[in-house]
Amino acid sequence: MAKTGNNNKIETKIAHLGRKPAAFHGAVNPPVYHASTILFESLADFRNRPKPLRKGEVQYGRAGTPTAFALEDSVAQLEGGYGAMVTPSGLAAITGALLSVLKIGDHVLVTDAAYRPTRAFCDQVLASFGVETTYYDPTLGGEIATLFRPNTRLVFTESPGSLTFEVQDIPAIAEAAHARGILVATDNTWASPYFCRPLGLGADIVVHAATKYIVGHSDAMLGLIVAKQELYERIRLRTQQLGFAVGPDDSYLGLRGLRTLAVRMERHQENAMALAEWLQRRPEILRVMHPALPDHPGHALWKRDFDGASGLFGALLKPCGDVALAAMLDGMELFGMGYSWGGYESLLIPTAPGEFRSAVPWRVTGQALRLHAGLENIDDLIDDLERGLARLNAAG
Ligand SMILES: *Cc1c(COP(=O)(O)O)cnc(C)c1O
Repeated sequence: MAKTGNNNKIETKIAHLGRKPAAFHGAVNPPVYHASTILFESLADFRNRPKPLRKGEVQYGRAGTPTAFALEDSVAQLEGGYGAMVTPSGLAAITGALLSVLKIGDHVLVTDAAYRPTRAFCDQVLASFGVETTYYDPTLGGEIATLFRPNTRLVFTESPGSLTFEVQDIPAIAEAAHARGILVATDNTWASPYFCRPLGLGADIVVHAATKYIVGHSDAMLGLIVAKQELYERIRLRTQQLGFAVGPDDSYLGLRGLRTLAVRMERHQENAMALAEWLQRRPEILRVMHPALPDHPGHALWKRDFDGASGLFGALLKPCGDVALAAMLDGMELFGMGYSWGGYESLLIPTAPGEFRSAVPWRVTGQALRLHAGLENIDDLIDDLERGLARLNAAG
């Protein structure tokens, strides 16, 4: 742990945090511990086992093993938190965080551009437990205070927003919320800890779909919740009470992916920027939704709060028929059509933001697309898109 001093830059931290080779016969990476039962040495140890379980304590498989602890410690330190919890998916990180802080009678404010299953959880599960949700305009900053009620407990943010990429003013939201004793949680999946550390912007809880950039290879489901000490203890206890357990192989894939996060994010950023700029010049495109483009409405906030942009962004096609859209999408050779993102490969899907907006109706008529720029050669990706747009034009 000697090389993980606070003065090291983030690339160095990503390579070194959470490693304890001396504890593992010098192996660079922690072994993958397959364990449910953990044996006690003596009756005294059995009787004196810590209750509740302390951070990093190996006692029963459900509470994690050194494989998960290495990932949790690394991400907690990258995010500037006290501790982190791995969860079985990104959605479980969101639901686990919400269930850790909300109780019957509470009110929660959720960004209108939240990941769709976040909304479904609020509307269907939290509602049935007597927690009320209000969706708010993601471009609200400190004015969010006008929506606070006496029972508002939490503001949930996600920046940039899913599908439409609005950037939120997290420092202004946090200032308004904290003045009223309200907590702020943020879904930091888009940026990953490499490009944004929201605890430093005022958030109290950070959640990640580690399935995306942290795992990075489209081969495991994983989530992480990061928080400051007092909240972390509560989140750890509650997610244990909920029975959230993560298999050691998936924790290992998260840790393995994390070690190359810096180089991958740089390439995702570079490819996405090139694609966004190229698309912006195309006559078929109405608008490109990418916070690093100077004409994006959230550009100034993005520049202030983020160190870079990831590979995920949106584009709006000028109105076109379904046959033309199918001609484009069905023939893509490098861009796959599928959910999730954050792996090494490029993806392109049609989206429908209008289907799940309630605070700010989505009035755009053009077909929305979501692109994920993978790690391929940029010229090949542009060629694939160029041929796609040619098919769109030919069929339209
Ligand atoms: C994918 C995603 C999630 C959910 O992650 P899973 O691991 O698929 O459950 C949460 N938030 C955002 C912003 C996502 O894109």
